Amino acid sequence: MLNSSKIYAGLFSCLLVTTFLQQRSAATEPAADRSDKHVLIIGMDGTRPDALLKAKTPTFDRLIKEGAFTDDANILGDRYQKNDTISGPGWSSILTGVWADKHGVHDNSFKGKNYELFPHFFKRLKRQRPDAKTVSLVSWAPIHEHILSEADIAQVFPLPRGKQQTADLRVSGDKINIDTRDGKWHHLLATRQKDTLNLYLDGKEIGSLSGVDLDYKLGGDFYFLGRDSRTGPTCFHGQLDDIRLWNRALTDKQIAQAASGATPNRQGVIAEYRFEDSKGTAADSDSQFLDLPGNGGKKHGLQIPLTDSLRNLTHADFTVEARFRTTDKGRNILFGNYNGKAGALNLELHENNSVRVYVQPPDPRNTDALAREGERDKTIAETAARILREDDPTAMFVYFHQTDATGHAIGFSPEVPEYITAIENIDSRVNTLLQAIQARPNFKNEDWLTIVCTDHGGLKRSHSDGLNVPEIRRVFLIVHGPSVQPGKISHQAYLVDVTATALKHLLGEVDPNWQLDGKPVGLKTTK
Ligand SMILES: [Zn+2]
Repeated sequence: MLNSSKIYAGLFSCLLVTTFLQQRSAATEPAADRSDKHVLIIGMDGTRPDALLKAKTPTFDRLIKEGAFTDDANILGDRYQKNDTISGPGWSSILTGVWADKHGVHDNSFKGKNYELFPHFFKRLKRQRPDAKTVSLVSWAPIHEHILSEADIAQVFPLPRGKQQTADLRVSGDKINIDTRDGKWHHLLATRQKDTLNLYLDGKEIGSLSGVDLDYKLGGDFYFLGRDSRTGPTCFHGQLDDIRLWNRALTDKQIAQAASGATPNRQGVIAEYRFEDSKGTAADSDSQFLDLPGNGGKKHGLQIPLTDSLRNLTHADFTVEARFRTTDKGRNILFGNYNGKAGALNLELHENNSVRVYVQPPDPRNTDALAREGERDKTIAETAARILREDDPTAMFVYFHQTDATGHAIGFSPEVPEYITAIENIDSRVNTLLQAIQARPNFKNEDWLTIVCTDHGGLKRSHSDGLNVPEIRRVFLIVHGPSVQPGKISHQAYLVDVTATALKHLLGEVDPNWQLDGKPVGLKTTK
């Protein structure tokens, strides 16, 4: 500050300098050096406070005892409640400090996002402390794709692939400049060859997914053309032609042939629907096809009994293909048998001009996947711990997901043992982080504020539409560190308070121009 005052004195008249200094002191204390102030925000998705208090959590117990705590924070504000009670709006409110009418995010589509005006708090921090180092480690990619800005280190951790894990390959047609909804004929084809899924649009490869380890039968009694086992808006609206299922992966050359309307070597065809007798269907054929203009009721599309050879399709290599023509921009299932429980294979047009092949094993609980969620959280914690020990983060956001995944798979409830275990697992992940902070070489001269929060609770296996559901709306908040006034947070706390609290700690003041909806909670009042 001394240096910049001198520069100002040299550049401007004394009068101007006096005015400048007066304005500063009127607004704030002289800017103190706050380089000792650090913040760690730990987000654990979908964690109910009653389950948190029931679980055996020595780390959280210590943070609650030494810090400020409430088990009655609210995920919706009093002023505005029109957003859904799900992760997109939830983490937006947490990380920007404002409600959805300002940040604009009402669901996980992130349509209407307004982070230009109401940015992630990292951006506020960097404007005031340009030397601050910011780190964000998450497993839910939309936080980085949409909300995050100004991170020096940002990493999204994929779920380690395991056996019988859902294989979901989705690619945007925009990537190769093909508008799949232009009302012209297009050809979509997916192959599985050993452990890799590939997608081809109009004969060109557009995406692949490796590490696919699937070995199970397709379930249910039927296969459907023009939809899956569900009726309604996801049904296909348009014309379908040349649907074929093969029990082998076609070669690139054969795929190009199939796309152009020629018939490749027919070895391995186990089902075929051409809707005509004449041979040599051209790619732009206007001859017979399956016309599906309707509203997606029970009679929509064709229902085909699952034969053994169809059932066994997902055991090994396969090819599935369809020609389609539509102008419907929504989700359009070309064919499939998904019903939420049984082994399934869907070929789909998805939203935002994307195309998709979706292969799901029959175990809806997928306990193996939940264990891998735990592994992933552990990897995130270890990565975060290394950065905390060896680097110098000013503000860090670390996100854990096993609770939310377990809630969706089995149940969000203190009565669900797996949900409790997920919380206990995250408790030891948090211990890893706190130990890393304490191991920092300059720890005793630093003032670390740790905030633990969640974006929503849950009821049964869901947390959508939770405006009037306390189990969904009510969450906890823990604030811990030397600057914290220990004890129960007695006033109503909200998701948006997280950013306000972090910025107050890091910068000393929350600028009213930011129009934050949150208020700092749990901090000692200074002077
Ligand atoms: Zn969530």
